[in-house]
Order: sequence, then structure tokens, then C-alpha cells
Amino acid sequence: MEHSAKIRQLLEEKKKIFTDLNDEVWEYAEPRFAEYKSAAAHCRVLEAQGFRIRLGLAGEETAFIAEYGSGKPVIAILGEYDALAGLSQEADCTEPKPVEEGGQGHGCGHNTLGAAGAAAITALKDYMEENGMSGTIRFYGCPAEENAGGKAFLVRDGLFDDVDIALSYHPSNQNLADQGGSLANFRVFYTFKGTSAHASGAPHMGRSALDACELMNVGCNYMREHMISEARVHYAYTNVGGTAPNVVQSDAQLLYAMRAPTVTQVKELYDRLEMIAKGAAMMTETEVTIRQVAAYANTIANDVINERFEAYLDEFLPLDYTDEEIAYLEGFRKVIPESEKRAVAAQAQQLFGRTEKAKEAAQMPIWNFHAKGLVGGKGSNDVGDVSWVCPTSIIRTACYAAGTTGHHWLRTAQGKSSVCHKGMLLAAAIMACTAVDFLRDPELVAKARENWLDRLGGETYPNPLPADCKPEIW
Ligand SMILES: [Zn+2]
Ligand SMILES: [Zn+2]
Repeated sequence: MEHSAKIRQLLEEKKKIFTDLNDEVWEYAEPRFAEYKSAAAHCRVLEAQGFRIRLGLAGEETAFIAEYGSGKPVIAILGEYDALAGLSQEADCTEPKPVEEGGQGHGCGHNTLGAAGAAAITALKDYMEENGMSGTIRFYGCPAEENAGGKAFLVRDGLFDDVDIALSYHPSNQNLADQGGSLANFRVFYTFKGTSAHASGAPHMGRSALDACELMNVGCNYMREHMISEARVHYAYTNVGGTAPNVVQSDAQLLYAMRAPTVTQVKELYDRLEMIAKGAAMMTETEVTIRQVAAYANTIANDVINERFEAYLDEFLPLDYTDEEIAYLEGFRKVIPESEKRAVAAQAQQLFGRTEKAKEAAQMPIWNFHAKGLVGGKGSNDVGDVSWVCPTSIIRTACYAAGTTGHHWLRTAQGKSSVCHKGMLLAAAIMACTAVDFLRDPELVAKARENWLDRLGGETYPNPLPADCKPEIW
């Protein structure tokens, strides 16, 4: 396509700015809603590129919009920059070795996610200026994708209301346009309050909040047999009531995550768990308070956006990797668990059947091809919330050795490599080129909207967040 070579040239000229941003944010590794340095780094880079910046949105101090241009259409490119607890890891190191014991790390690759979007929007702006194009382009700096669903607050507060097309990205093990289907997800605290007492001297005086938690979990475990097979329920103890066995625990708390293909199905699980929690409280003569703190909607992918993503994947792939890069990837392949290697082989079979090609793909150090049609995993993603209010799709590019698990030190370790940089720049090129297509062709924008309405099938955004729920660190 005639503009794609130019976009790639514009990216090449400024690539160091964005590979440096990728690496800088990797170093900060800040957790949800505390991405102060990471958001500031993005703002600094984009302001220097001539964008208007609005920092602090929808009660999120680390959310921002960088905007250029005016009028319709409005094209959004989404970025993230939050890290994960417990995934601190030295870069390029093939054995687990935290930089800081128990510290944060970019185990989901959001340092690359933000840098790719910033690179894409900059190349897009440069291209628009050179070609005298109109329209509004925005980079959305979105905090707290992990464990808080930061975008749901931005959507609830209307920040996407005038957006025509939203393009997002996630670094991955494969190159493909995401087909949607991420699970809707609620995060809910159950806090039990009982009565403390000497566990041996006056046990009859005690009412144990810890017992209530355990009974709630038992109840939930029985519920699992009677829920749809696509649903997932997980829990963590966020307060076990202390470390003394001889004191009846008066306070205890659980955090639940409940997932299913649609928000309505998650709401059904929520209602059933509410009954289970109340039942546990009744059995133990304790009290329970229930507080929902986050919600993710399921993702509605867009076929029209994906067609553009796929055309550029086919145009730009394969990438050139040096011998050193292949050796680097082979080094990580050696330590990837067998279970993950088997998962790669299963994916290869899904794509190529029981063929030699599938066997070859299973052994590759990186999947340097378009894995068209591969079905994704069972995660949740707050891009889902955006996808309910405007046509949205996610591009994925290969940034890591084949079989690298997400939310794992193996991914943190590869987050600053030149392989990762190449995947990041590929995503930036694809998003910028796709945005040019939509800026140039109002009919394409209309088609994407038609496809979006068709996929929604008359449903509207269920806005699963309670009205009084505020962005917070919990
Ligand atoms: Zn993640
Ligand atoms: Zn992620």
C-alpha cells in the first residue's frame, strides 16, 4: 500500500525515542494507579512531538489523553503501562532472578504496549502533517489494566463518547488480529466481621470470620459444578485474621475474581456468590460486607478493523532477525516449561493440522508469521469496555520466544530485547497504517460501525461498575 512504506520510514527515523520509552517504563515497573513516572514519561515524549496533553481523567491521576488535529473522524490508539506484583526479573536473564525480591515487573509487557501506541500516534501525526490530512487523533494513556480495569472508569465517564475507531495492541507470542472473546470479569471483596475470644479459654465466646471465609470458599467450590463450563471463579485471602491460632479471628477478607463470556453471565455468578457469602455469615454468626471494586466487559472485535490489521501483517511479515537474536530466543526456549511447549504444538496443529508444517512451527524459536485464525486464551481485558462504545480491535505481535507464558518472569526478562523492540515497532506500523485508512475513507469508518452494531446485536454497554465505585488502590 502506498502509504505504508512512508509510515515505516517515519517510524524508523524516530524509533530510538520509542524503544527508549519501552525500556524506561520497563525499569519503572509501577503497579496499578501508581504509574506516575510511566505516565509522565509518555506525556513528556508526546508533548515533545507536539501533542496537546490532558493528564488526570475520570478520577485516575495517571490517565491521560494526547491529542492532535480536529474534526471527524476521531481515531483513538490505546496504551497501557502498569506492571504486575511479584514479577520483578533481571532483563535478558534465563533463570528466575528478581531485580528486587517480591518487586513489580512487566510480566504482561505493558511497557511495550504503551510505547507501541505512542510510536504509532507519532508516525500518524507526522504523516497527517506531511499530507495535509484532517481528523482528530488521540493516544489514550490507560492506567491499571491489571486488577482494576482502569478503562471501565474512562468509558463510564464518557471519555470515549465521540470516538469513531479505537485501535489497541498487546505484545504476544504470535502475530495476529485478535478475534475478541476475552472474558467479562468482576472483582469483589467479601469482608467478614466476627468476635474475638481466647480460642481455648473461652471458645464459646468467639465467632470466627476466618471460618466464614472457609465456608464461603467451600460453598463456591460446590457451585463450580453447576456453572457454565466457560465460567471461571478464583479467590485470594486478603486478610486471614492474623497469625495467632489461639485467638478467634474476628476479621477476615476474601477477594474474588469471577469471569464468564458475557457481563450478564458474570452478574449471575455475582448474585449466587452473594447468597453463598450470606449463607457463610449466617452459619458462623458473623457479618459480611460485599464491595465490588472493578469490572471488565467482554471484548467485541471488529471485522473491518481486523481486515486492515491482517492486510498489513501480510505485507510486513516476516521480520528479519539477526543470528544473535535467534540465539537469544533459543536461550529462552531452553527454559520454557514442557507444558508450554506442548501448548505451542497444539496451537501449531490448530493452524496447520497434523502436518510437517505444524511440527516445524512447534520447534520455531519465534513465530515469525501471521498466525491467522488462532483462537486466544481465557483472559480478561479492559479494552473490552471500550469495544462496547465504539468499533475497536486489538493487534498482537510476536515479541517473545514461542511458548513464553504471560504474567511470568520469562516475559519480564524479554521485555527490553531487540526482538521485543521489533515486535513493538511492527505493531506501531500496523496501527498507524490502519488509522490512515480510516482517516482517508469515511465509508470504511461507516462499515466498521455497521459491523460493530451487527456484532452487538442490539445490546448496549452493560456498564458493570457500580455507580459509586471509584478508581482506587485496594
Ligand atoms: Zn495481563
Ligand atoms: Zn496485558
